[in-house]
Amino acid sequence: MHHFQYKDDELYCEDVPIRAIAEEVGTPCYIYSCATLGHHFTVFDSAFKDVSHLTCYSVKANSNLAVLKLFGSLGGGMDIVSGGELYRARTAGIPAERIVYSGVGKTVQEIDYALRENILMFNIESLEELDAIDKRAGVNGVKARIALRINPDIDPNTHPYISTGMKKNKFGISIDNALSAYQKARRLKNIEIMGVDCHIGSQLTEVAPFIDALKRIRVLIERLGQAGIEICYLDLGGGLGIVYDHEAPPQPHEYAESILKELEGVPCTLIFEPGRVIVGNAGILVTKVLYTKRTPSKNFVIADAAMNDLVRPSLYGSYHFIQPVKRSEKATEIVDLVGPICESSDFLAKDRGLPQPAGGEYLAVMSAGAYGFSMSSNYNSRPRAAEVMVSGGRYFVVRKRESWDDLVRLENIPEFLSVGGPLHGQGCG
Ligand SMILES: *Cc1c(COP(=O)(O)O)cnc(C)c1O
Repeated sequence: MHHFQYKDDELYCEDVPIRAIAEEVGTPCYIYSCATLGHHFTVFDSAFKDVSHLTCYSVKANSNLAVLKLFGSLGGGMDIVSGGELYRARTAGIPAERIVYSGVGKTVQEIDYALRENILMFNIESLEELDAIDKRAGVNGVKARIALRINPDIDPNTHPYISTGMKKNKFGISIDNALSAYQKARRLKNIEIMGVDCHIGSQLTEVAPFIDALKRIRVLIERLGQAGIEICYLDLGGGLGIVYDHEAPPQPHEYAESILKELEGVPCTLIFEPGRVIVGNAGILVTKVLYTKRTPSKNFVIADAAMNDLVRPSLYGSYHFIQPVKRSEKATEIVDLVGPICESSDFLAKDRGLPQPAGGEYLAVMSAGAYGFSMSSNYNSRPRAAEVMVSGGRYFVVRKRESWDDLVRLENIPEFLSVGGPLHGQGCG
């Protein structure tokens, strides 16, 4: 369920017409529905209400402070993958004891920061990282709480770029080496073993791979118990898929029922790291048509949003449903919706039927709340889009559109370029 619906042929987010936002804030802009965000978080979290658990929203899916703040206020924790994400989570007021830290390349600076903040635990992805964290904990005079991220070698049947739990992926410690890795962890003075972690991929549309992974993890937890290593947290990662097109992913309650059935008798607090399933369908990208262009082989619609704003179509060939902000009776035309960037991979949709778009019209790129703004860039020196949050009849710009000044703010021209040459006497730097 989401709150982007037509009323009298005008697309609304909750009680605000999208057009009103587009006209005031400009385009391209991301629009998030606060009601949908809250609803999705609550549906997921309450699917596990009968067991001890913590829902750690995956910050990378949508890292806006307002989004993080909302989930924090609903009792959520955060799954972070960088020091920057820890900074965001703390800035949004998320308690450190609700933060878990994943990722294969944590730096010394990031490890120290997380130790100082005293986060709930590190999800460790290699033996070298385990040593590094032990060492930094020693230097800082603290104990590091950890889980080992286990790679269970399960094919999640998703796009290869977002599958993470197969042998050939860079993530986690092979399940075959897990027992000895835990035995090593136990010997380290500054490490406190808390849990087992696994995250097998993203946009999963069936429960079977989750359950296959879980069965293997369960066996591991039993073996650890026999070896005298008690596990109190089981982190099952994220990855539950959403409907972009005609997928039929399990509902959170179905996912929860299957998992809980498999976990009977496992006395662990469960941690989940959902990202996409919570924010994906809670946001859209609004773009304005600039030009249309007919060529002998294609009809192009050139919009003011591009792959720097939403890279998923270019990067993964992803499908996003696109609809006009003002519904019309115009005949359908098959078009490529493209952006202004100088790359042929710059498209938002290919061979798509749209009601003959014309210059000046607004289009809504649906299901853009996850891995949309958070993956955006400044390529082609395009300022990043504004982000807006709607709640009922109100809306609020939760991130301003970047300016051209923002683009060059961190850059400096070295003095040696201003001596002689055409820049002489212009006093840069
Ligand atoms: C990206 C990621 C998630 C979230 O994945 P979704 O598919 O968005 O739910 C969770 N955990 C880890 C470790 C991740 O890298």
